[in-house]
Amino acid sequence: MAVVTIDETWCKGCNLCILFCPVKALQPAAHLNQRGIHPPELGVPDRCNSCRLCELICPDFAVTVASAACNAG
Ligand code: SF4
Ligand code: SF4
Repeated sequence: MAVVTIDETWCKGCNLCILFCPVKALQPAAHLNQRGIHPPELGVPDRCNSCRLCELICPDFAVTVASAACNAG
């Protein structure tokens, strides 16, 4: 499972990451950030396939995608 981290202090709310996520895993959070916008959050984590498009498309480098390490075995 991927771990999508949003740096809310850098996010300006352009919504590009939400619009371009191919599986619609991102959505606006209910809360506001310090800029007064709803930052994205991984609302449907099971959909995320770690494609990193959100990380690549964010103009403000606010998104980081990492694959969770598997510690089993
Ligand atoms: S890594 Fe890909 S699938 Fe996951 S939230 Fe970002 S754009 Fe969507
Ligand atoms: S693309 Fe970046 S700046 Fe735009 S809403 Fe997503 S995280 Fe925020």
